Amino acid sequence: MNQVRVRMKVRRRRLLSALIQTMMAACLALIFSSRFARAEELTFKVLAFYSTGVEPDHVKTAKDALAFYNDLAAKHNFILDTTIDWNKLNESDLKPYRLILWLNNLSQTPEQRAAFEKYMEHGGGWIGFHVAAYNDKDTHWPWFVQFLGGAVFYTNNWPVLPAKLTIDDRMHPVTKGLPATYEAPANEWYLWKPSPRLNKDVHVLLTLDPSNYPIGKKDIIAEGDLPVVWTNTKYRMLYINMGHGLMVYGDPTQNTLFENAILWLGTDK
Ligand code: ZN
Repeated sequence: MNQVRVRMKVRRRRLLSALIQTMMAACLALIFSSRFARAEELTFKVLAFYSTGVEPDHVKTAKDALAFYNDLAAKHNFILDTTIDWNKLNESDLKPYRLILWLNNLSQTPEQRAAFEKYMEHGGGWIGFHVAAYNDKDTHWPWFVQFLGGAVFYTNNWPVLPAKLTIDDRMHPVTKGLPATYEAPANEWYLWKPSPRLNKDVHVLLTLDPSNYPIGKKDIIAEGDLPVVWTNTKYRMLYINMGHGLMVYGDPTQNTLFENAILWLGTDK
């Protein structure tokens, strides 16, 4: 009788341990599959425009940007295509892309401009870097000025210099994980007049801290409100002033900003 009881006890224990093992395997499978599903969900397509015939420093930084975003594409499972052909700014070529980048130039012809306006007015995404937003009295593209929130290029510092930046809104997806201030690598900082901050639709995310003034040696910025990163909330757009300097992509804090920016406009609803 005792032997039968012992055998039943052993069998129950075995059954229990088999059950626990099966449950653990199921849990692990669930964790792995949900991780995989999340990675899959991130898939979106980005097209980066740049030019090789522009200011050599702008070409160099654009190439650093491409290397950085290429690594990021592998890490976050999105597709990055690149082109120096600005005529790809047309309706059919832009169609597959949730987001486009302008690394060191902007559209030139009326056709490219019209296609870009249509793309942005219909929910396209854009991140413009540095000179990509440059406009002055000779640009003759009023739509683009309002798209930037009214910002017109006024002046810049020279040579490139590091600067303390203040994060205006640390709750925004683009500034997630950034400290309240950080020392940004050397860059050519642009001052805009009027400042885009005056536009009620503009949300400024990073600003050059006034403690940097005067900044520059040959060309000096002595004062003024200098937003560095902002979005015009009427569009899926972000302007980032960085893009001129050997170490622009060499700072982990700043790289977090670049990474957040791509993920924000690549995956927002
Ligand atoms: Zn520059």
